[in-house]
Amino acid sequence: MNRFDYVKPASVAEAIAAASAPGAAYLASGTNLLDLMKGNVVRPARLVDISHLTELTRIEHRENGDVRIGALVRNADLACDQSFARDFPAIAEALLSGASAQLRNAATVGGNLLQRTRCAYFYDPASGCNKRTPGAGCDAREGDNHQHAVLGWSEACIATNPSDFCVPLAAFDAVVEIEGPAGRREIALERFIYALGMRHVGETTALALARGYGSWDAFHEACLKVAAGDEEAIAEMDALDQIGDTVIKSVAAYFAEDHNRGIVERLTQEVKILDAEKPKRHSPIATKTVVFTGTLEKMTRDEAKATAERLGAKVSGSVSKKTDYVVAGPGAGSKLKDAQKHGVQVLTEDEWLQLIAE
Ligand SMILES: Cc1cc2nc3c(=O)[nH]c(=O)nc-3n(C[C@H](O)[C@H](O)[C@H](O)COP(=O)(O)OP(=O)(O)OC[C@H]3O[C@@H](n4cnc5c(N)ncnc54)[C@H](O)[C@@H]3O)c2cc1C
Ligand code: SF4
Repeated sequence: MNRFDYVKPASVAEAIAAASAPGAAYLASGTNLLDLMKGNVVRPARLVDISHLTELTRIEHRENGDVRIGALVRNADLACDQSFARDFPAIAEALLSGASAQLRNAATVGGNLLQRTRCAYFYDPASGCNKRTPGAGCDAREGDNHQHAVLGWSEACIATNPSDFCVPLAAFDAVVEIEGPAGRREIALERFIYALGMRHVGETTALALARGYGSWDAFHEACLKVAAGDEEAIAEMDALDQIGDTVIKSVAAYFAEDHNRGIVERLTQEVKILDAEKPKRHSPIATKTVVFTGTLEKMTRDEAKATAERLGAKVSGSVSKKTDYVVAGPGAGSKLKDAQKHGVQVLTEDEWLQLIAE
């Protein structure tokens, strides 16, 4: 195990300050973190022990029926809180079905949400794992992957989230409050729109909507008008690049429901939503269509996509005659063949980085 600092702050504010040092990690009960450290899977330079901070151990039952759960509440304490178990039996049951009694007595709910994946390759420092070492590849894809994700995976990682607690929390539309050096959490507009989970609004559509409206207030106002059948607002949304009837109907259906509007209101109280960044019009890749394939070694696929889009390119998942560039890393397969078939220019990752730096 590597050498590390150990600090025991007296308050949440002190903990946040201590954890802003590079390589710092919070230590709650350590049932996940310490195992990872012993296995040399993670090597924090500093452990910020928050396990004694009583301000994070409260379960608050609010008058409107909501419950606010401190990050350091133990899994067993929450599952056995009588009012909580009565009002949210699915969550209590999920907590009690996880791990063992000893672990549930020690483990915290914050640690449960933030525990790392159980992918065996992640735990084996000799294996290639993008999650442990970005750019190292994903040995699970061609290895023993029968317990990996069927839905929601990416080419970079097919691991699942190991938390039993997360599943009912998502079903009950729970909101996570996060506090950091900049106060409440900031989130990009397109990520916030995507996270609402509207049908037919995937990452690309969310980005198109974010860029079309520029700010949360403008987008929110338009959605409410669209839901109320305002023809001008509908026409305005329809005029946006990549947005059509299916998305408009889905946005209208989502914002027509009281329940969803309530969720949006609660979420917007917890996060600061950043305005969308306008894509650059005069970069070397503006208006070009790019496909990434194979393993990227200097950036994650998400970073590559975000950079390309910020520079005005369109990122596509398939290669056609209209594709301008295919950026191919090790392990590239059928998309590379398609590029050769259609005569599309193929770039290595370094050539791509050189192109966008111009
Ligand atoms: C043998 C075994 C079986 C298990 N089985 C199950 C199971 O069936 N179902 C299930 O859901 N889970 C299971 N777990 C996982 C267990 O629930 C987690 O290890 C536990 O919840 C983590 O809580 P902790 O307080 O020990 O977190 P720690 O190990 O202290 O921290 C975990 C991670 O969260 C971060 N962290 C913790 N608290 C905070 C905070 N307040 N703010 C920011 N970051 C924080 C830490 O930095 C670390 O990265 C199992 C674990 C073991 C060891
Ligand atoms: S699925 Fe791949 S990238 Fe994800 S944790 Fe496992 S080995 Fe790592």
